[in-house]
Amino acid sequence: MIFKSRPYLFVLKGCGIFYFLIFVLTGCGRDSSVKETGILMDTFCEISCYGVSKDKAIAAIDAAFKEMERVEKVFNKFDEDSEVSKINRLAGSEKVIISKEFFNLTEESIYYSGISEGAFDITVAPLMEIWGFVRKHKVIPDKDAVENALKSVGYKNIALDPEELSIRFLNKGVKVDFGGIAKGYAVDRAKDVLVSKGIKNGLVNLGGNIFALGSAPGRKSWKIGVQDPRNKGRLLRSFELTDRAISTSGNYERFFEIGGKRYSHIMNPLTGEPCQGIISVTVAADSAEKADALSTAIFVMGEEKGLNFARSIKGIKVLILKEDGGLILY
Ligand code: ADP
Ligand code: MG
Repeated sequence: MIFKSRPYLFVLKGCGIFYFLIFVLTGCGRDSSVKETGILMDTFCEISCYGVSKDKAIAAIDAAFKEMERVEKVFNKFDEDSEVSKINRLAGSEKVIISKEFFNLTEESIYYSGISEGAFDITVAPLMEIWGFVRKHKVIPDKDAVENALKSVGYKNIALDPEELSIRFLNKGVKVDFGGIAKGYAVDRAKDVLVSKGIKNGLVNLGGNIFALGSAPGRKSWKIGVQDPRNKGRLLRSFELTDRAISTSGNYERFFEIGGKRYSHIMNPLTGEPCQGIISVTVAADSAEKADALSTAIFVMGEEKGLNFARSIKGIKVLILKEDGGLILY
């Protein structure tokens, strides 16, 4: 659901700074930009652009918000009427015809599973359930529950048929969860809408999944600063981006603590447990979907494996903040 209304709309005249995990360090350009904010996919969303008339900018941003809202309706597992909910209900027992969009994002997700050797895996849904990330009440499940859930985890349990655009789960308990990729995907779609409306410079930020289109007012690029989650006044590093995306996966926003131990909402699909060892992974890439999926994958893989994996992928930048405080930039 999106809570967006006119009162949130305002024209930025000076430097804009986001108060989310990621700061956007804009120059104080002369161009005025239009910015709208809202709540979407359970997080904060902000879209801004400049360089066109105010009316054109508002129309483009409104259309981009509508597009994200549409994407949310397809992939929201908490909405019983969404396509993902329907598939989770049925595909364990029968073949289900799906939309081209659902087919494509599932295929992309399986691709990221393959290259990350199963670290990224949308079939983690049963693990999210037993660890209490679907309910409000977080719990540590017993070993049997983990073993049992693991039987339904594994991207190889998803059978896609490109001819008839259908999906079938090879095991009854399989359910899919697009939480690790859908926000990035939605950001790319919103960016495409802006471009189709003639916008050359703007920014789409959905909970730290950002596409930086063109450059910031008066600058050659967008400067995106990654905040230190342990000390919000400090930046870990900043990235200069033009027509590129950035995404951060971390254990500092969605997690629970029991007995002084932190349990993150990112699961290791191989062990069935929340990942440990890393506080956050930031990835810059040519699309927000890629940055989103890869940041989740590298978070799961951990420092050593994650870095080797990052080196195997062309054109990305990676920043890892470890639980021991170490900072790695690749
Ligand atoms: P955020 O949702 O905070 O942006 P991520 O992009 O890393 O963070 O996505 C985490 C979400 O992805 C989880 O809430 C869950 O829905 C899903 N998820 C958890 N573990 C995995 C995994 N190993 N592979 C793919 N998706 C995952
Ligand atoms: Mg992700």
